[in-house]
Amino acid sequence: MDYAGVDGRRADGTAAGDEVVEPPAAFSDRAVASDPEIYEAFAEEGPEAWRRAADLLDWERPYETVLDDENPPFYQWFPDGRLNAAANCVDRHLDERRNQLAIRWFGKRGERRSYTYLDLHREVNALAAGLRDLGVEEDDVVTLYLPMVPELPIAMLACARIGAPHNVVFAGLSAEALATRIDAADSEYLVTCDGYYRREDAFNQKSKADNARLRAEADLSATVVVDRLGDALDVPLGDDEHEYEAVVAAHDGETVEPVARDATDLLFVMYTSGTTGRPKGVEHATGGYLAHVAWTTRNVLDVRPDDTYWCAADIGWITGHSYGVYGPLSVGTTSVLYEGSPDYPDRDRVWDLIERNAVSVFYTSPTAIRSFMKWGAEYPDAHDLSSIRLLGTVGESITSKAWRWYREHVGGGEAPIVDTWWQTETGAISLATLPGVTPMKPGKVGPPLPGIDARVVDEDGEPVEPGEPGYLTIAAPWPGMLRGLREGDERYRREYWLEGEDGWRYRTGDGATVDGDGYVTILGRVDDVINVRTHRFNTAELESAIVEADGVTEAAVVGDDDGRIVAYVTTRGDVDPDESLREAIGERLAHAVGDVARPDRIVFTPDLPKTRSGKIMRRLLEDIARGDEFGDVSALRNPEVVGEIESAVRKK
Ligand code: ATP
Ligand code: MG
Repeated sequence: MDYAGVDGRRADGTAAGDEVVEPPAAFSDRAVASDPEIYEAFAEEGPEAWRRAADLLDWERPYETVLDDENPPFYQWFPDGRLNAAANCVDRHLDERRNQLAIRWFGKRGERRSYTYLDLHREVNALAAGLRDLGVEEDDVVTLYLPMVPELPIAMLACARIGAPHNVVFAGLSAEALATRIDAADSEYLVTCDGYYRREDAFNQKSKADNARLRAEADLSATVVVDRLGDALDVPLGDDEHEYEAVVAAHDGETVEPVARDATDLLFVMYTSGTTGRPKGVEHATGGYLAHVAWTTRNVLDVRPDDTYWCAADIGWITGHSYGVYGPLSVGTTSVLYEGSPDYPDRDRVWDLIERNAVSVFYTSPTAIRSFMKWGAEYPDAHDLSSIRLLGTVGESITSKAWRWYREHVGGGEAPIVDTWWQTETGAISLATLPGVTPMKPGKVGPPLPGIDARVVDEDGEPVEPGEPGYLTIAAPWPGMLRGLREGDERYRREYWLEGEDGWRYRTGDGATVDGDGYVTILGRVDDVINVRTHRFNTAELESAIVEADGVTEAAVVGDDDGRIVAYVTTRGDVDPDESLREAIGERLAHAVGDVARPDRIVFTPDLPKTRSGKIMRRLLEDIARGDEFGDVSALRNPEVVGEIESAVRKK
């Protein structure tokens, strides 16, 4: 890649890597990962080093082989081992902490429900028995279409217990998206609910599920329906539809022997966010995935049993799978599960929940942090957040501005932040600092984790010089990696793998730079590079500079047909966007990147189009700037802004 005007400088104009924040001693002293030697140990031992992760689990049949790499890129981790994921997340904690809370759930209407590990064990077993009774057998795929209610993790674990892979579909997706995913997964079973609350209104989820059923080619042989709304919504059930509560009651007290699965057997199917195109159906195997997730939950998120931990991501996305369910439960901690939105009933809802539950580790996304910033620091500042000892972020690049705000107003100025880079496909965190060991650099993700051979390379696969942009690739397999795609082996190979002279390389699709200390900065998608006036800019760099302007909360930059830079910008609630703000934005870009990067157009908009998982969908903004037809927008969370943005673009 050949960029100009970037030169490894950070968007705030300083040279990359200027600011180094050491892990606070109070944190390091009791961190899970506290020995800097860990990097070397992994480097020396190769794949064998991942025994550390696998040995965090209970194996039904111990593995001997760590990695079978006979048939790349179809790698097999711990192939001769057998285990059950649900037994690892529930049963094995019973001796030591049966009465400890596993899940503290907060519903949209102020409801609360708590589950100890023993409670979880009882309900998972009852549902597992019930699903079996309905005909679910080992290897049958069960689709789960539920909002953030405890029945969702319980259903995932019930499936895992009987060796039935789950296929969770984010509850906010449409009937059509559900139908596609049911078909792609060859799924004959569905667990859904009558509906859920959106603000004050009862919303009918079951009718979406019914529509999906009509559209899907597959015939569903049984549907289980959770009663989330009680009398608020009357949902009649057909003959092959069963009330969740009745299924669980009928099998209450039964135990189901956890099915020993090969480590390479499918644990679940999960679709990517669809930020860059059609979502891909990613398949994760049981052993390597769970090992990598458990290891990173402990070593990166530093979660222990006595923590109260909150991963704010929806379980309908990979972050919610890995760090909302499998990670925290496999390490035996207490998690907060929150059904509502962060601004209801008020904009301090998140801080209220953190204070009330004494949350010690909080993991969220830059898009959420940008909303918090937009709403104002007075909301977190009004709460006692002193229980927080570690913060995490995932999903997009976090600007150094947002990083500082997060640390200051949520982390009490002291908590370390782990900026974690990973993908649906990587299964678990792959690049991040180890919070008790590795210094942080705000705005940079950090070095690859021990055991992750991530490299930033040029077109020929050669490592780039520090500061030079290139492609982020991974040169050796890792345990959490996808085992394949629903779309087939050919697509899997084509989408992700390159065979080079020194072996196979995994392509992440992200552009990045690396500095002299090995810290990686994510520049955005390789596809998000824009060509302007013979220069190549990456979106993250430009956007990061724009949000440095006072009052700006979010920005997305695209190129139009004539090679011009178009910047879409949102501002804080109390800011009236005017000419002087346009000036200020132009100045910031000129200062941080160069005069050549001044945008040709700045479009102020109340919001940016975001995927359901909260990422800015640049390709849609590009279509608007170019006056093109829109591509696939089924992944969009706020389609209503599209019209507003279009008219704002045409106005000028
Ligand atoms: P699709 O693959 O369908 O286009 P997606 O890539 O958004 O969707 P996910 O797997 O949810 O689907 O997201 C992974 C991507 O998110 C990464 O490739 C990267 O672009 C971005 N990302 C994740 N974490 C970070 C991070 N800490 N910093 C910068 N970018 C990140
Ligand atoms: Mg992707």
